[in-house]
Amino acid sequence: MAVIWHVLGVGSLGSLWATRLARAGLPVRLILRDPARLAAYEAAGGLTLVEQGHSHTLAIPAQTFDAAEPIERLLVACKAYDAEAAVARLAPRLSANAELILLQNGLGSQDAVAAKVPQARCIFASSTEGAFRDGDWRVVFAGHGYTWLGDAKDPTPPTWLNELQTSGIPHEWTPDILTRLWRKLALNCAINPLTVLHDCRNGGLATHHCEVATLCAELSELLGCCGQPAAAEDLHSEVERVIQATAANYSSMYQDVAHGRRTEISYLLGHACAVAARHQCSLPHLTQLQARLITHLQSRGLRTD
Ligand code: NAP
Repeated sequence: MAVIWHVLGVGSLGSLWATRLARAGLPVRLILRDPARLAAYEAAGGLTLVEQGHSHTLAIPAQTFDAAEPIERLLVACKAYDAEAAVARLAPRLSANAELILLQNGLGSQDAVAAKVPQARCIFASSTEGAFRDGDWRVVFAGHGYTWLGDAKDPTPPTWLNELQTSGIPHEWTPDILTRLWRKLALNCAINPLTVLHDCRNGGLATHHCEVATLCAELSELLGCCGQPAAAEDLHSEVERVIQATAANYSSMYQDVAHGRRTEISYLLGHACAVAARHQCSLPHLTQLQARLITHLQSRGLRTD
């Protein structure tokens, strides 16, 4: 019998995965935070995927943390700051051979989750897919992309990659998932905080070349210090390319701040600065950027962790 995909975190990315898996006929269960959310979901009649203007509602079964069903495969799609506590609550339900797929952006949350469930295999993911919610229990597939998956401790691919294929979830198994995650983190650190501080779209950074170049140099130094030199290759030219290619977009951090939402700063710029400090790697501009961003978040009444 097919293994059930339990999905923790039924937000943008979690819904995008859950609806595509369920649409392919695979067994999926949504794990909702409490009975009130479960009742709201059941009243809505399912989860809706909006793709190219067409919407498709799937009545995927849902449950709360208290359900008895053991969990063999868990897709963790919460924000980085919620993942550790949410997984810890589910730990008693994990079976001995459980596998977790961690979709969190940035770094730091994956190790925190893995420490809570030492018996489980934790597979890290890095995704360039884009999705947002345009209502409760509705997700809009906004940007086609790719998801890289890997396990830094064990290069053996899991057996369920073919289920992603069947579900039309573009993916690739990689032995270098940490390099990919570090690269994405570095790109994020070079672009997202500056878009918040300069109150601009990504393209607005074209007028801040020097600041971007200085940050890229420090980020490259950090990647070298922490054993990720491959993630530093041509970082500056890729950052400039991303700024041009996504000129009309607002970065995810910009959008979080604009909507008064908590950011994932601790797992992005905060993680970079913490690792730099641990390696006694002095990066004055990156440290100053973190201080400026924290002051900005404070001034907006937002959390700084
Ligand atoms: P999101 O829309 O905010 O969804 C997170 C979901 O987690 C919410 O539905 C929230 O529930 C749920 N949640 C949090 N704590 C929970 C708990 N204790 N129990 C049950 N559910 C809980 O976030 P997202 O945009 O999908 O992002 C998830 C991760 O993917 C982030 O690290 C993000 O950076 C990364 N990512 C996102 C995208 C994207 O396009 N969205 C792309 C690439 C990477 P409530 O609804 O009840 O608050």
